[in-house]
Amino acid sequence: MAFDRMCAGHTRGIRPGDRVLVVGMGRSGQAAASLLLGEGAYPLLADDDGGKLRHPVVEALIAAGAAVAEADAVAAVSLVVSSPGVPPAHPLLTAARERGIPVWGELELASRSCRAPLLAVTGSDGKSTTCAMMAHLIATAGREVVLGGNIGTPLSSLVSSLPCNGLAVVEVSSYQLETTESFRPWVAGLLNVEPDHLERHGSLDAYARAKARIFGRQGPGDWAVINGDRAGLGALVPAAGATVLEFSTRRSIPAGACLMEGWLTHVWRGERQRILRAGDLPVPGHHNVENALAALTMVLPLELRPEHLAVGLSSFRALPHRLEPVGTVAGVDFVNDSKATNVHSAAAGLASMERPVVLLVGGKDKGLSFAPLAEAARNRARMAFAYGEAGVRLAEALALAVPAERVVDLVAAVHAAARSARPGDVVLLSPACSSFDAYGSFEQRGEHFRELVMALPGYAPVGHQESPKKSSR
Ligand code: ADP
Repeated sequence: MAFDRMCAGHTRGIRPGDRVLVVGMGRSGQAAASLLLGEGAYPLLADDDGGKLRHPVVEALIAAGAAVAEADAVAAVSLVVSSPGVPPAHPLLTAARERGIPVWGELELASRSCRAPLLAVTGSDGKSTTCAMMAHLIATAGREVVLGGNIGTPLSSLVSSLPCNGLAVVEVSSYQLETTESFRPWVAGLLNVEPDHLERHGSLDAYARAKARIFGRQGPGDWAVINGDRAGLGALVPAAGATVLEFSTRRSIPAGACLMEGWLTHVWRGERQRILRAGDLPVPGHHNVENALAALTMVLPLELRPEHLAVGLSSFRALPHRLEPVGTVAGVDFVNDSKATNVHSAAAGLASMERPVVLLVGGKDKGLSFAPLAEAARNRARMAFAYGEAGVRLAEALALAVPAERVVDLVAAVHAAARSARPGDVVLLSPACSSFDAYGSFEQRGEHFRELVMALPGYAPVGHQESPKKSSR
């Protein structure tokens, strides 16, 4: 099993004394440099923003043996490691490729140094929730596990202390997959492919191909997990690669997890095992049933005990900024779904509400069609307020389905929503756009929303009134 392959020792790829140029000194670059120092290599640090090189963490790396890269550093290194935010056409990366010097993403570096099996998840929507559920299930069963990657903590900062009998759950973005070459998860999952990030990938096909790289290096003994309800995902798993497991909310499947008679059900080695009623999942919405089935399928090869899985699922708590109840004002619940940064995820957030919604949307315009959001809003939203860079286009698209108004920013949107909502409604921030027109991250946007709601007259924290109902599916 690939499991044993990892424990038996893994090609690290880094030799003591190697000079390695690390490009991008954000959190990933800092973690990569620290890992390299731990491996006895000599990291040279570069960032276009000189201020980043004076960050206290970077100063500590320099004190520990790293150095700021000279302009011609590429000439002196045997490897370049790039952070996910650095564009592939960055001059330092281009110069390295021209000289035949390998360029690894931070994830490639981290996975080469990880002795424990990797369970990696990619997809357009639901990655973080699924990964957090997996880590929670594994921990509940008493196994040592780390959770990292795109979810926040770079994998590089977690691997050194992880023993080979531990497990690494990794959320992986398509950007990160573009800069991997030997990345071989023991269990790899592709949740869905929806229009997003097309400005970087060019087309939906190219985006799907980038995501399919998660399966590219797998072989016998590895497992590929796909969403059995989405056509075409199976074709992305190479024929000579991993054994396929599926999850489905619609049909029974040969191996994986599915919804049967209202139960989240395992199918493993020809046997079915009921784990939990979907209605008892503590997170709302059909999309979270999908995420729970995906998480159960991802951990199937670990053969965790069903009772541990049931306890794990029922004690899972939603991550912040994902349909997170913020509080109540005059009988109206306010819900923060700031992480819904594309049309499909916002539509899923909206679909999980069982009460009339006043929808807040807006942010940086990625050029996606808003028509599916308008459809989702048709029977659920009482009205919509659209703000920010995409506000005009969003208001126009939504107005075909529901009353929609353009407002200048999130402040105006929250105040307008508070005036328009009726007792029993939900005001839902599910923006369908990234936050970068006005905020540094979706977290900052979600925090700002929380502050605005808490400042409304009559605000009461969560618990004073029932928050959005759980899905009964
Ligand atoms: P990701 O890490 O892929 O961005 P998250 O788990 O952080 O996904 O969820 C982000 C938002 O996407 C959620 O707030 C919810 O609105 C929506 N979402 C979550 N899971 C799914 C899913 N399986 N399908 C569609 N939308 C989803």
